[in-house]
Amino acid sequence: MRSLRAGATLFECLMLTLMALGALAIAALAAERWGWPGALLGLPLGFIGILGGLNIIAMVGVLIERDWLPRCHQGVCSGDWRTMFGDYDIVRFGDDFGYRCRCGIEYMKEGRRFMRRRPDGSLEPYMVWTWPRGYVPDDGA
Ligand SMILES: [Zn+2]
Repeated sequence: MRSLRAGATLFECLMLTLMALGALAIAALAAERWGWPGALLGLPLGFIGILGGLNIIAMVGVLIERDWLPRCHQGVCSGDWRTMFGDYDIVRFGDDFGYRCRCGIEYMKEGRRFMRRRPDGSLEPYMVWTWPRGYVPDDGA
């Protein structure tokens, strides 16, 4: 995982540079328009705005890089985003939609949680999506 770590560091450096440059650019634009109060406001606002924007880009990047759905209980099926749901089929449980992997295990997604659906319809925590690690085992926290 050495290359991944180096990539993340490079990415972080790039983000910081972009953020600083972007904030300065926004402050300069604000200063041109509103004088020094604009610059004073523009710098932190620009920084926050760019931080937010880059965060969204980074989150999308993680979503793209990681599986859209986690691996199933058997560790066989994956939910690669490139095929949208990978090895999972979309199934209907009454009014809700869920997923069924190739092994026949059923899952439901609620927000960031990916839960196993027992045959009786109850849900069991399985994986939860966290930033920036992707899916990690759901300890119910
Ligand atoms: Zn499976």
